[in-house]
Amino acid sequence: MRSISLMTVSAALWLQAGAAAASAYETRVLPPPASPGPVVSAFVSQPAGLIALTHVEVIDGTGAPARYDQTVILDGARIAAVQSAEAPIPAGARVVDLTGASVLPGLVGMHDHMFYLERPNLTASGASDRPAVVPEMPFSAPRLYLANGVTTLRTTGSVEPYTDLQIKAEIDAGQLPGPHIDASGPYLSGVGEPLIQMHPLTGPDDARRMVDFWASQGVTSFKAYMHITRAELGAATAEAHRLGLKITGHLCSVTYPEAVALGIDDLEHGFFVNTQDDPGKTPDVCPRTIGTPTLEAMTPDGPKARALIDLLVSRHVAVTSTLPVFERTPDGLRELTAREKAALDPESLADYETLRGATAKTPEARRLQAVADVKRDMALEREFVAAGGLLLAGPDPTGTGDVIPGFGDQREIELLVQAGFSPVEAVRIGTLNGARFMGLADRIGSIAPGKDADLLIVSGDVAKDISAIEAARLVFKDGVGYDPARLLDSVAHRYGRY
Ligand SMILES: [Zn+2]
Repeated sequence: MRSISLMTVSAALWLQAGAAAASAYETRVLPPPASPGPVVSAFVSQPAGLIALTHVEVIDGTGAPARYDQTVILDGARIAAVQSAEAPIPAGARVVDLTGASVLPGLVGMHDHMFYLERPNLTASGASDRPAVVPEMPFSAPRLYLANGVTTLRTTGSVEPYTDLQIKAEIDAGQLPGPHIDASGPYLSGVGEPLIQMHPLTGPDDARRMVDFWASQGVTSFKAYMHITRAELGAATAEAHRLGLKITGHLCSVTYPEAVALGIDDLEHGFFVNTQDDPGKTPDVCPRTIGTPTLEAMTPDGPKARALIDLLVSRHVAVTSTLPVFERTPDGLRELTAREKAALDPESLADYETLRGATAKTPEARRLQAVADVKRDMALEREFVAAGGLLLAGPDPTGTGDVIPGFGDQREIELLVQAGFSPVEAVRIGTLNGARFMGLADRIGSIAPGKDADLLIVSGDVAKDISAIEAARLVFKDGVGYDPARLLDSVAHRYGRY
């Protein structure tokens, strides 16, 4: 009896502590839904209510096999039931027949910026003038994400943190259409970064102050960048953790094992940017080779990969896969789909065509090496997952104009299938895994009774053909159904401009 009561007490304490720790972050990222204002209402095709989505294929986000001919019942902002087509539908429910469609959890995008990467004075050879500039896209980016099924995202480094926070505030207030947002603070970067909109840290005290200040302004995550030093990363990580927030990094000066030792929570860009074996790597300095030699030397089933993966898994460090920003064909850049091209403003589309032409002219050996590097990273990501690692998904809309908010999130999941994951596993990486990392898996990331009604509904059978994920038909956020076509029309030829 005594041991049972002790267990009960400690379980209750644990639950209390867990609930208290989760609530501040959870309330910030997933606040109670506001009713849609006039701007948002224009995109709503299914107002919240008691809704029965009938004859759908359910891919629930857990990695379980698809279930066919199901009914998903939504009651306001929550999923009420997932049942077979024969089970009775509650009286008064609005029936939406979705024969031929698949329903997925809303995507959880873990590297989803709000900006576009400009290259000043771009030439036909692909060269551009310094500095690179990343103008904020407060109009088009949130709409592109939502239209393509991203219902929760992390901005993963900000160049206009107040704008990101204000976008989030207006979305949460029902004044602008867009996803739930974990707004990251400004890049925690060192001296020599390529983007002019970054603050070069002056040391660990500066890193600590920056984390502290931006957390006080409402950001809910942090991202370290290429030229940060170990002392700065260590200070930023300790401060973020003291405040109950997580930190990720696109690293270079600090190697993956060093970052793990400093307590980082997540590493961006798969295994592309680990510099531990780059020739001439010196502490705290980003080598010009930015990780490529380390990647190319790391055989997926070899001892080096095993040691690194074991380290990441044992220390619970997640890895974010951002395959779209690295994707190459033997000819160079991927050709955008007509719908993607329609999202780009004319100048950005012209820049993309220029860069595509330039990559097609690089020597064949280099083009093929870029393709091989992606395959290598894919194999390492697969090994990481097989070893029990938590792989997250995000597109990183920057690169060369070929990665666009929302479309890129879908492309990431397609590329995970190319990497060898099954479609339902790839969907889990793009949904529930992100929710688990954020500590929000009780609310989002999978389709189950009681969870938030955040859903991506597409035409076609996603379990058999992952490219069906591009055919967004209806996107639910907090039980409100949005029309993807209307959202896309509203931003046509805008991304890259505002
Ligand atoms: Zn990025």
